[in-house]
Amino acid sequence: MNILVINCGSSSLKYQVINSDTEQCIAKGLCERIGIDASQISYTPAGGEKEVTVTPMPDHTEAIRLVLEALTNPRTGVVKSLDEIGAVGHRVVHGGEKFAQSTLLNDAVMAAIEECNDLAPLHNPANIIGINACRKLMPTTPMVAVFDTAFHQTMPEEAYMYGLPYEYYQKYKIRRYGFHGTSHSYVSKKAAEVLGKKYEDLKIIVCHLGNGASVSAVKNGKCVDTSMGLTPLEGLIMGTRSGDLDPAILEFIAHKENKNIDEIMTILNKKSGVLGLSDNLSSDFRDLEAGYNNGDENASRTLKTFCYRVAKYIGSYVAAMNGVDVICFTAGVGENAPLVRSMVCDYLGYLGVSIDKDANAKRGEDIAITTPDSRTTVMVIPTNEELAIARETVRLVK
Ligand code: ADP
Repeated sequence: MNILVINCGSSSLKYQVINSDTEQCIAKGLCERIGIDASQISYTPAGGEKEVTVTPMPDHTEAIRLVLEALTNPRTGVVKSLDEIGAVGHRVVHGGEKFAQSTLLNDAVMAAIEECNDLAPLHNPANIIGINACRKLMPTTPMVAVFDTAFHQTMPEEAYMYGLPYEYYQKYKIRRYGFHGTSHSYVSKKAAEVLGKKYEDLKIIVCHLGNGASVSAVKNGKCVDTSMGLTPLEGLIMGTRSGDLDPAILEFIAHKENKNIDEIMTILNKKSGVLGLSDNLSSDFRDLEAGYNNGDENASRTLKTFCYRVAKYIGSYVAAMNGVDVICFTAGVGENAPLVRSMVCDYLGYLGVSIDKDANAKRGEDIAITTPDSRTTVMVIPTNEELAIARETVRLVK
């Protein structure tokens, strides 16, 4: 069965078609600047050339119409008609406490997702617009929502509660939810599979280090803690997000810089992280690595602080699980930055971690980067959120 996977943002839409029998991606692309001027769609069939077309996209329905047109194009398309797309899997950022699993979409489910909008005002409304546009154009095709938060719903209360008045949890459901769940789930399962061990027997820590970054603790196949919180702002230092802070810093900056709460939130989400910490050198780890290797002080301070934070989270999850068997690195930075991996692992001597330098230099493989005698195994597992969404979609529509 061919599954169309949609990841819809407020002005962009990523798509892939995955053949669920071979688990291969047969086409993918991106619509950008939806609802803005100069919108464009890119389309790449597997083994073919990438095509970029600049064309008006006043709304998401038009973007999805163009995606479907590209997929069925008689010359470059990958399906003859839309009948060859068996189902659509949609990434939805926030499922609140309502969704601990992926779910088939219908009107009642759509209403329940809308009720989660308050928890992710930047993301969920865009996801919903994408789903509605798709339902309009493919009214008889089954659709599934796969939530970024669902995998983390197994966290125990002591991991998800904040030290705030309890009434805020009761009234507003303020608690830790965690994100990147599809990736944490996919990577932790894959690690067990690659090692030939039972998922349910392992204690795994997954470090998803991309532009957004989070760590999770997966004990006996269930997530027991994760670093992102009510929103994706908590936890690690990220590309442009601050991660953990003394909450009193917000008031301090507000007074000193004469800023209101919205301006402060923009600073914490868009101007902080490795970008801010490096004094605006870059949010891209390729630049930071290059700077570090050239002795640049901003790059050095930033990478050291970033890696120290990752190592502290690993330590806290070792405590939470009373040990760890496997530590996985994934996503843009985790998969491609050997320097970051080795700087994090320098802190892990107490876990008996011994890095194999040659393995750590490799790229694009599911691989252990520790020596065979290392007491804890450290792995690189490239994430594949689209494939994980396609698998969930097939499981629910079959
Ligand atoms: P997201 O999905 O959160 O946008 P990704 O997982 O795609 O993020 O990761 C993007 C980040 O990966 C980039 O910001 C960049 O810093 C980092 N990255 C990509 N390639 C490399 C590389 N070769 N070396 C170091 N970092 C890299």
